[in-house]
Amino acid sequence: MSNEEVMEKLREICSPIKAESVYEKDCEIGEIGSGASGTVFVAKEKATGRKVAVKDIDLEKQPKKELILTEIQVMKELQHENLVNFLDVFLQENHLWVVMELLDGGPLTDVVTETVMKETQIAAVCYHTLQGINYLHKNGVIHRDIKSDNVLLGKDGSVKVTDFGFCANISGDEKRQTMVGTPYWMAPEVVNRKQYGKKVDIWSLGIMAIEMIDGEPPYLNETPLRALYLIASTGKPIVASWDKLSPEFQITYPGSDVFNSVWEM
Ligand code: ATP
Ligand code: MG
Repeated sequence: MSNEEVMEKLREICSPIKAESVYEKDCEIGEIGSGASGTVFVAKEKATGRKVAVKDIDLEKQPKKELILTEIQVMKELQHENLVNFLDVFLQENHLWVVMELLDGGPLTDVVTETVMKETQIAAVCYHTLQGINYLHKNGVIHRDIKSDNVLLGKDGSVKVTDFGFCANISGDEKRQTMVGTPYWMAPEVVNRKQYGKKVDIWSLGIMAIEMIDGEPPYLNETPLRALYLIASTGKPIVASWDKLSPEFQITYPGSDVFNSVWEM
């Protein structure tokens, strides 16, 4: 798509009214984070007082505007209790304001790097993340960037998947071949540029489970390029504390019911 075509589509999607008439910036909390595409701040819906998160994207600074279009299209169409839901989008000059639910507990990364999670807690996070992933898959979407940074938590206990910029639409068992995602969480078939499908999200969830056990994904001390090589050549990574895990957590033995149900998805 050309830049102009992307801009045209964005204009079609965006709300025709001015953002300031519906939302106001919460100056007490202000900015809660920033990423490759822009900053995220807290705002209040004037009519209800409800707090929301707003991602402010400066389109002029975006080399890949198409990813942003994908993100908005996916968020707009798919609503589920385990996905960070989209509320509104505004375009003012070259700034896009993506309004979404506010997850006030921060990303799962903060939890895995600062605390030791119990297996029961890990199971709960995996369960809710899988509900979100399953909903995406049923709607023909592969997320392709499942990792602890992209799982946000609410203080009410909610667990929601976010960051839909790398999503791909597939129908049925259709396969993809392009290498996208974040190196340490990528499945071998993605790294090897083989045909891959929905299961790559399950692999990445497995790596996220390792983050919850060990605090980081395998090979994090290696360069991304070497990590890609190690993923491709080693396959399933070694988990240091494997023997301490319950049989339910060690789901990868063929013949187990859980193993079969996961791989038949
Ligand atoms: P990228 O732009 O590549 O996606 P990123 O994921 O770091 O990078 P953002 O998605 O813009 O950047 O998010 C920036 C920060 O804001 C993240 O640390 C994230 O935890 C936080 N954040 C994003 N969305 C929300 C939300 N709905 N509620 C609360 N915090 C959020
Ligand atoms: Mg993000």
